[in-house]
Amino acid sequence: MTARMGTARLGPAERATALRRMAAQELDVVVIGGGVVGAGVALDAATRGLTVGLLETRDFASGTSSRSSKLIHGGLRYLEQLNFDLVREALQERALLLQRIAPHLVRPVPFLFPLTHLGWERPYVGAGLTLYDTLGFSLGFTRGVPGHRHLSRRRALRLAPALRRTAFSGAVQYWDAQVDDARYVMTMLRTAATYGAEVASRAQVVGFLREGERVTGVRALDLEDGVELDVRARQVVNATGVWTDDIQELVGGRGQIHVRASKGVHLVVPRDRIHSLTGIILRTEKSVLFVIPWGRHWIIGTTDTRWDLDRAHPAASRSDIDYVLEHVNRVLSVPLSRDDVEGVYAGLRPLLSGESEETSKLSREHVVAHPVPGLVMVAGGKYTTYRVMARDAVDAVVHGLDQRVPPSCTDRIPLAGAEGYQALWNSRQRLAGSSGLHVARIEHLLQRYGSLIDEVITLIERDPSLALPLTGADDYLRAEIVHAATHEGARHLNDALSRRTHISIETFHRGLAVAEEVAELMAGPLGWDDEQIKREIEHYTKRIEAERLSQEQDTDQEADAIRLGAPEIVPVVGPAS
Ligand SMILES: Cc1cc2nc3c(=O)[nH]c(=O)nc-3n(C[C@H](O)[C@H](O)[C@H](O)COP(=O)(O)OP(=O)(O)OC[C@H]3O[C@@H](n4cnc5c(N)ncnc54)[C@H](O)[C@@H]3O)c2cc1C
Repeated sequence: MTARMGTARLGPAERATALRRMAAQELDVVVIGGGVVGAGVALDAATRGLTVGLLETRDFASGTSSRSSKLIHGGLRYLEQLNFDLVREALQERALLLQRIAPHLVRPVPFLFPLTHLGWERPYVGAGLTLYDTLGFSLGFTRGVPGHRHLSRRRALRLAPALRRTAFSGAVQYWDAQVDDARYVMTMLRTAATYGAEVASRAQVVGFLREGERVTGVRALDLEDGVELDVRARQVVNATGVWTDDIQELVGGRGQIHVRASKGVHLVVPRDRIHSLTGIILRTEKSVLFVIPWGRHWIIGTTDTRWDLDRAHPAASRSDIDYVLEHVNRVLSVPLSRDDVEGVYAGLRPLLSGESEETSKLSREHVVAHPVPGLVMVAGGKYTTYRVMARDAVDAVVHGLDQRVPPSCTDRIPLAGAEGYQALWNSRQRLAGSSGLHVARIEHLLQRYGSLIDEVITLIERDPSLALPLTGADDYLRAEIVHAATHEGARHLNDALSRRTHISIETFHRGLAVAEEVAELMAGPLGWDDEQIKREIEHYTKRIEAERLSQEQDTDQEADAIRLGAPEIVPVVGPAS
């Protein structure tokens, strides 16, 4: 088994090999889209023994899968909509991810639910949370998080002194789980590659190969060098989230599944701006607003509005930011202002269309379809249930393959870095001693790499200057940037600053103050010359400037027009002139 040979890397050489291999053979399945669903499909198929390729047009997880609330949850509001099956399924996945599949990446997080109505609200919320906790138990698994508890206003204020005393009458605290969404996808892709999947980013599917009506593969464009390649496959899976309909159009005609986009905006503020030991969930007119602990920060969100503009770079407007601030300030004793906002990000929910005009009421359940022979589409759902979506999609693939293939086994496949994590966590003091790193740093690294921490420490042993933190973003070590380029598929400055780390939303300078240092660290492994370093920095700077300016605009249209002003990609080859 390949796992014994070590975890696969996603460096530049591995990308080139993957593309070459994809072009050289007929695969069982090729997956379009490197978000959580596509990555899940690749892992599911590879671990059933199928030959798999995956093509992602931008960076892995650069679509919705790096822009979520980063919660692994059943969804309290689906409970209110009486969608018990969806909640039960999601909570079972939560237990599995927390305890077996990715204990290094998924962890429990507490939320305080402030009560504002005397009388009926406490029994109502209490009954809902009792059900939520009960649905969380699944066969063979404990829930993985503590149960809820009722709190008086005084005890709630002790946990969350930031709350305005007059804004609530008491509270209930419950537990869910959270994840670094982009890191999870990348780790899943490394795991899939370890089981033999060929994966490549910056490779856009631009057409389909056909034999009569049947789809027999895809035509892809390597965006790094402009070369086209044909990837033949017995089945193709469309896992492109909010781009599902575009792929359907490439294959011709309108399919059975329609996906539309709903925008959700989050703000990031420093941890010291809200004095609380727990996350907070607030009801809004349409949905809920979360205040989520995130390292030395809080993530606050989200909004829910229809979006028909650019899907690669959805822009947050001034109105979105004001909406979030206004809602959170309703309960804070010291209100937040725009000056407190370090980072802003916007994502697009892939919603199955046609059921309701109100996007927040559209179904979060997923659909798998076989629109033409040789093509499977999977869409909808949510991050938490990606594994179920992937399993269902590969079941459909198997149906089309007409051969015996074992059932899904991803419920028993830990992601890279999960095995040995607990033992390393227990030995973190010793690891700190032997590596010379502070124990708090080791903890941070273990929660990002799990047992793959060795890879980062080996880099430091070879070059001790990599043990230094980045100047201006000291949550991260210089070694982590090199590792992102050599092992984690980061191909551009933006990938390292936005997804391998989250410096672009976790600092007031949004990454500009470290752009040069990070680009220089990436240059070695990626073979950049001075010209390329300069282009990377220019590109990133333009992106941040455009985002900042778009966030000053009142409307989506104005924000979108400005955000579109920043170029899409920095090709490694010189621009065609
Ligand atoms: C604001 C917000 C908050 C959310 N919060 C949560 C949460 O807390 N918990 C939860 O469970 N869910 C949450 N969700 C939902 C969850 O994030 C999504 O359901 C999930 O990430 C969708 O993953 P995906 O793989 O389907 O899509 P994506 O991540 O968008 O992946 C699709 C990929 O396809 C690629 N692609 C498109 N066209 C092509 C092409 N031609 N060739 C190659 N590649 C292509 C794209 O670049 C993209 O990377 C949230 C969503 C949003 C928007």
